[in-house]
Parts: sequence; C-alpha cells; structure tokens
Amino acid sequence: MRESYISSRVAGLKPSGIRKFFDIAATMKDVISLGIGEPDFDTPKTIVEAGVASLRKGQTHYTSNAGILELRQELATHLKKLYGVEFDPATEIIITVGGSEALYLANTALLDPGDEVIIPTPCFVSYQAEATLAGGVPVEVPCRMEDNFDLNIEAVRKAITPRTKAILIGYPNNPTGAVASRETLTALLKLAEEHDLIVMSDEIYDQLVYGIPHVCFPALPGARPRTLLLGGFSKDYAMTGWRIGFAAGPASIIQGLVRIHQYTIMSAPTTAQVAAIDALKNCDEDVIEMREEYDRRRKLIVSGLNRIGLPTFEPRGAFYAFPKVSVTGLDDETFCNRLLNEEHVAIVPGSSFGAGGEGFARCSYATAYEKIEEALRRIEKFVNRL
Ligand code: PMP
Repeated sequence: MRESYISSRVAGLKPSGIRKFFDIAATMKDVISLGIGEPDFDTPKTIVEAGVASLRKGQTHYTSNAGILELRQELATHLKKLYGVEFDPATEIIITVGGSEALYLANTALLDPGDEVIIPTPCFVSYQAEATLAGGVPVEVPCRMEDNFDLNIEAVRKAITPRTKAILIGYPNNPTGAVASRETLTALLKLAEEHDLIVMSDEIYDQLVYGIPHVCFPALPGARPRTLLLGGFSKDYAMTGWRIGFAAGPASIIQGLVRIHQYTIMSAPTTAQVAAIDALKNCDEDVIEMREEYDRRRKLIVSGLNRIGLPTFEPRGAFYAFPKVSVTGLDDETFCNRLLNEEHVAIVPGSSFGAGGEGFARCSYATAYEKIEEALRRIEKFVNRL
C-alpha cells in the first residue's frame, strides 16, 4: 500500500488553529468561550417561520443552480439600496452554501496552478487554504496594529509579481475588526488596475459596522468589472447553521462559479434560500438590534482589555477584539493555552490568522454581556499573575 492516499495538496493543509482550541475547550467545565466566530443570537423568528412554512408547502426540491431567482432579485435590490451597486440577478449572482462555498468557488474558478493570490493578514483562516486547494499560491502581506490593521498599500505593491492574479481582502475584518477606509480601497483598486488583477472582496460582515459606513468594494468607481463580491447571511442575520451565502460579479466570472457549483453542490439548500428571502425582506430591524447589542459589548471588551494592560485597537466592524498579548512576555499560543487551562477562558491565538496575527489573540464578543464581564475578570487575574 502507499504510505498515504491523500493528495499532496490536501496533505499540506494545516488544520485550523481555531478548531484545535475548541476541541480542548469542549472537554472542560465552566469555560467561557470568546472563541467561536458566530452570533450567539438565534435566527430571527420570522426567518425561521419562513423556512418551516416552505417545507410544509412542499418546497423540498432542487432550485436552479444559481439559486431561487426571487432571492437573487431581492439580493440585487438589497445591494443597490445599501451601496448603490447593481448586479443583474439573472446572470451576475450565485447563491452558495455559505460564504465558505463562495470563497471556494471564487478561488477555484479564478486560479490556474501557480497563480499567486495576495492575502493581507491577519485574515479569516480559510483564505490561504482555499487558494492552495485551488492550486494557487497564497502570498501573505502582514498588516500592523500601528496602521490600525489597515492595508499597507506599499507592501501589497511589493508583493505583486508577474504571477499575481488576484487579491483577496476581507473587510470588516476577521479577526481584527478593522474596516478599510475608502482611500485605502481606492488605492488598492488603482493597483489592481495597473497590474490587471481581480479583487475578491469578502464582505460577509458588511452590516456589522459601528458608527461608520461600510465601503462596498465593487461600488467604488471602476471596481465593478474586476471585483467578485463574496457575502452571506451567517453573520448579519445570525444564520450560520442555514448555510447560505453568495457571490456577485461580472457574468463571465459568475458563470464560471456556477459551473463548478452545478457539479459539486447542485443548488444551495432550498429551505435556507426561502428563509434568506425573508431575511432580506423583513429583518432590517433585527439587524439593527443585534448590531446595537454587539456595539455595547464591543465597548465593554475593548475598554476592559486596555484597562487590563493588553493594548487593543478599536475595532469598527465584525464582532472581534484583537488584543496584543505578547506584551505579557508570552507568545500568543502560550498565552491562549495557559489562559484556557488556568482560567478557563477560550480565545484564539492570533498566529492562526496568518503572519500578521502573531503576538495577538482574537476575542469574539458575540457572547452575552455578562459572560464577557466574567471573562474579563478572569483575564485580569491571569495577566496580574504573570
Ligand atoms: N468570511 C469570513 C471573514 C468569515 O469570518 C466567515 C465565517 N467565520 C466566512 C467567510 C464564512 O461564513 P459562512 O460559510 O458561514 O457563510
């Protein structure tokens, strides 16, 4: 027998640092988890009712490959209303199994073997893996706390080679909570134009921004023809378990994504698609309420961490705080391991999110206010002991 039947491409993938931590945490009692990147809210009732009703009505069949047309139409209307950007529902939008599938399809459809993808880090753990799985080469460009984790355009420019095909960005950012400014994104677009690159813009946290507007990349003048917008319902609408997301962009590219999707997935879950229509039609208020609660927790955790002596940049989006834990003299892995073992608080080492995350840790505030208060007490006890 061969030593392994697993392809070298897959064998080379690192397991996600997040899962490793949560497997350990799951074996402990009274752990407070600030670890998982998902809303603690249940899905709003009206969405659930819409999903259940669709089943009772017999909507138990496949949909068209690209997704229910009404959902694509609602999504087009929603994006136009929020950002003024227009997509043709018939040809320029595909409904996917979460933003995760959208990321997978985008990389697979765009990359030839050896094509380089520039990925600013820290970033969502899947980015490098998706690029690698697609045969591409992820090229990490670290962002720094001193720049508020904004993109360093000069560093991106230096990372461009003749093999660069794409740039994959995610704002609001997981894990830093950074929101890229219009100026930075405009400068990035200019670079993309100069070097004829495509931009994959993962905007899954677009409605979770605090006190500032979200800049939708394809809405920037001139960006539309070279941008693939990736998004989903998991975060904004607290629908992680429904598995529904989307990609929107030029028809020629979206049709490439549809081709892969039709052979691998067929169509996103029908129940979830019907539920997502309801989310877009009826849940603006729910989104506002959840956002206000996240904002309250955001203020609590950021001021708490800074008071404890862990320098924390003020996140303006998503639901993560990203303290610099290396000021304690411990590296991020050791800090998180010891905090978990000694004080039963689970947070994620920043190095799980790429080179730019070393020395930091991700604390999710998609957790009840009181739990965050208790977690802060425990973190303080731990830091004081060091
Ligand atoms: N992009 C980012 C930045 C994320 O944080 C996540 C989930 N953690 C996803 C995409 C994928 O989410 P889903 O597949 O649930 O839509």
